[in-house]
Amino acid sequence: MIPFNKPYLTGKEAHYMYDAVNSGKLSGNGKYTKMCHAFFQDKFGFKKCLLTTSCTDALEMAALLINIQPEDEVIMPSYTFVSTANAFVLRGAKIVFADSRKDHPGIDEEAIEGLITPKTRAIVPVHYAGVACDMDRIMELANRYSLFVVEDAAQAIDSYYTGKNGVKKPLGSIGHLAAFSFHETKNIISGEGGMLVINDEQFAKRAEILWEKGTNRAAFFRGEVDKYGWVDIGSSFLPSEIIAAFLYAQLEHLEQIQQKRRDIWNYYNDKLGQWASENDIDLPFIPDFATNNGHLFYMVCKNLEQRTQIVEKLKTNGILSVFHYLSLHQSQFYRNKHTGSDLPQSNRYSDCLLRLPLFFELSTSDITRVCDVLKSALI
Ligand SMILES: *Cc1c(COP(=O)(O)O)cnc(C)c1O
Repeated sequence: MIPFNKPYLTGKEAHYMYDAVNSGKLSGNGKYTKMCHAFFQDKFGFKKCLLTTSCTDALEMAALLINIQPEDEVIMPSYTFVSTANAFVLRGAKIVFADSRKDHPGIDEEAIEGLITPKTRAIVPVHYAGVACDMDRIMELANRYSLFVVEDAAQAIDSYYTGKNGVKKPLGSIGHLAAFSFHETKNIISGEGGMLVINDEQFAKRAEILWEKGTNRAAFFRGEVDKYGWVDIGSSFLPSEIIAAFLYAQLEHLEQIQQKRRDIWNYYNDKLGQWASENDIDLPFIPDFATNNGHLFYMVCKNLEQRTQIVEKLKTNGILSVFHYLSLHQSQFYRNKHTGSDLPQSNRYSDCLLRLPLFFELSTSDITRVCDVLKSALI
């Protein structure tokens, strides 16, 4: 059996968790949480980071911070995970779905401007497979129309965007706010877990308050106020030290994990290139402005029948491949609320995109086997 994913453990997770347990400080915002925040701030230059219990939580914090009100409109791709939308729907927002690019499942940057109305408050680009959206274009629109940009960087750890000025920036550092995921299916994991990145100074203080149940507890422990209490709305968005300890062990191996995943990705890409083009299958496209963090290796099949044929063939040979999102504008929950047009590219990715096994411990011989079975699937 070759599974689709297998969580990778660096070896130090249990040790650090044990240390956290023994320290007697188990709740959030302790030593390991601070070490994780410092890691991200040093490595990627993020202005302020707050660990959360999921990327979903980080997106919900973002919706609270930009003060989304009922009837506000938020633009995002239809080809994304439900949490991207739900975070804003919880505040009463109306989601305006954009199509994906023809060459990539990310949002079609050309489609955004036509969707902006006086009610639009935010754009939420999703860096699908860790591949950057064209952030210069998105930030330019946001500035022109006074909109906020929340990057859904769930899959985008340690991936970069190079703007027109030639400056290479980490994903998650460009929008006003950004959300990362450490769910066990991502590159760096803590079981469930996430992080909010605050790049716009105006949100820094309030983010910490929302994070700590609407109290100024964080400022109190820094000695900035002499008592703490209820100062705003909020919730319990922060993870325990046990989770932060696990995450820290992963972060220590970031380089190694990323390198290995990129190697696997490149191996697939080399092995499958010719076969894919002979069979009208698209392999991932990485625009010049983007980098590859080896998060996913996917193929876009010619049609649904071809994808079904491939999935079945792999399955009979003990290999698990999985498709990805179902267009949110066609979901049971939102199809009656979707007022926009058809989104043909989003539907194409829903029907035709297939993800192949990609995890740290996937061996070269396993990848060869996956590729050989794939090649026999369409004969
Ligand atoms: C994984 C993922 C999420 C949700 O992350 P959680 O940490 O599970 O909440 C949101 N958006 C995208 C694009 C994702 O891939």
